[in-house]
Amino acid sequence: ASQTPTVIIIGAGMSGISAAKTLQDAGIRDILILEATDRIGGRVMKTQFSGYAVEMGANWLFGGGPVHNPVLEMAKKVKLKTSLNDYDNLTSNTYKQDGGLYPKRLVEAIDKVAVARDDFCAEFSTLLTKKVKNDVDISILAGQRLFKQEPKTPLEMVIDYYHNDYEDGEPPKVTSLKHTYPRNEFVDHGEDPYFVADPRGFEIVVQYLAKQFLSSLKSDPRLKLNKVVREIIYSKNGVAVKTEDGSIYKAKYAIVSVSVGVLQTDLIDFRPKLPLWKRLAISDFSMTIYTKIFLKFPYKFWPSGPGTEFFLYTHVRRGYYPLWQHLENEYPGSNILFVTVTAEESRRVEQLSDQEVEAEVMAVLKTLFGNNIPKPEDILVPRWGLNRFYKGSYSNWPDKYNQNRHDQLGDPVGPVYFTGEHNSNKYIGYVTGAYFTGIDTANDLLGCIKNQTCRGYNSQHM
Ligand code: FAD
Repeated sequence: ASQTPTVIIIGAGMSGISAAKTLQDAGIRDILILEATDRIGGRVMKTQFSGYAVEMGANWLFGGGPVHNPVLEMAKKVKLKTSLNDYDNLTSNTYKQDGGLYPKRLVEAIDKVAVARDDFCAEFSTLLTKKVKNDVDISILAGQRLFKQEPKTPLEMVIDYYHNDYEDGEPPKVTSLKHTYPRNEFVDHGEDPYFVADPRGFEIVVQYLAKQFLSSLKSDPRLKLNKVVREIIYSKNGVAVKTEDGSIYKAKYAIVSVSVGVLQTDLIDFRPKLPLWKRLAISDFSMTIYTKIFLKFPYKFWPSGPGTEFFLYTHVRRGYYPLWQHLENEYPGSNILFVTVTAEESRRVEQLSDQEVEAEVMAVLKTLFGNNIPKPEDILVPRWGLNRFYKGSYSNWPDKYNQNRHDQLGDPVGPVYFTGEHNSNKYIGYVTGAYFTGIDTANDLLGCIKNQTCRGYNSQHM
């Protein structure tokens, strides 16, 4: 990197790397990527758990749709190991709160209503977009009420959880209908859920992208790891970026790719303060938490074999350890189970010790499989919400948040550009969203560098 690079990119997750690659491809070679942690990948992150690589962050890729998915394409290039998940078996594996399975036909009937409700919501959302002016939006829950079949019973709730919270990370009552339905990731890229289970981790895909322009992921001078950005001083003349270790880096422009959760904290101090419109756009958006709690047992006591991969647990408290998955298809003999919780439950669980989480989880499992089940040998409770470099798992579009504000979330301020999953219009929350926003932000900046069309200096923008 030259003494004063043209662009500093903050964050080496999917969006930062894709932005950097886009700049490189366009001939802007003097860039510098500053990453807080000791690795690239960001929320695409694996860890070793009892001898197996498990994904703490992004786990699924989607395929089979009419639109080319470049992330899936890269996954194929690196021969990423995935398996196709089969959710059809959920209806045969839905447990009551006090144990015992619900009759399959009952669950199927409720799921059928949920599918019809989803279809209604998708159509209604399209109608809202086309026919109603003034950017009117409602929550998914309001859409469900218009359908006249709002989920009410614990069983209806757990099915609804699978259809919505499990994807959005937040319940239908706080999620935008218009910006969530139809679910573009599925409509475009497909509904085939490829579950990543590869010893190299999903992050190999981000590494693959980075290796297209970096000579090494450890020693290329354009990438600096363990550099926690704490201050961005900006003016018409450029940016100065200060890191926690006292270094200062200068450049003409910066691209900030940290999560909206991080932007909502004081980790990075902008000087001058970001304008009010920008701060409102940031503070009104939602960063949710999605937590996969992994448990390793000495042997299996849950059903295994075809059609058992997933099971649901019904509880009067919506979202109380609702969705379970075993890893026998991916890692036979691993004896690993994991359960997903989201939003407020995640926030609560993150405050507990691992032992306390284990006690809660074991109480549920004992209800389902009897008191004689063995103690887990190991437990992994990711705490994305508490991690200062993420402050959650991914963003979710709140029901009262309009398109104009979302445009502002991504708008540059002077020489400071913004990117990341939360800025995607179509694939918000997904790795694909992060990938595409990286390209879009870089192209926006390239317009500024090459053609002097710098949106960051529009009338209101500084
Ligand atoms: P990030 O990956 O967060 O990249 C930002 C980078 O900035 C990070 O590397 C961070 O360390 C760094 N950083 C933060 N603060 C600073 C600082 N002050 N200074 C320097 N660097 C800093 N997506 C899917 O497509 N499928 C899934 O199945 C899926 N499941 C998920 C499950 C979980 C639990 C989580 C957490 C995410 C999941 N996602 C999934 C979402 C997906 O992982 C993200 O949308 C995507 O990886 C975000 O990329 P990004 O570049 O926008 O942000």
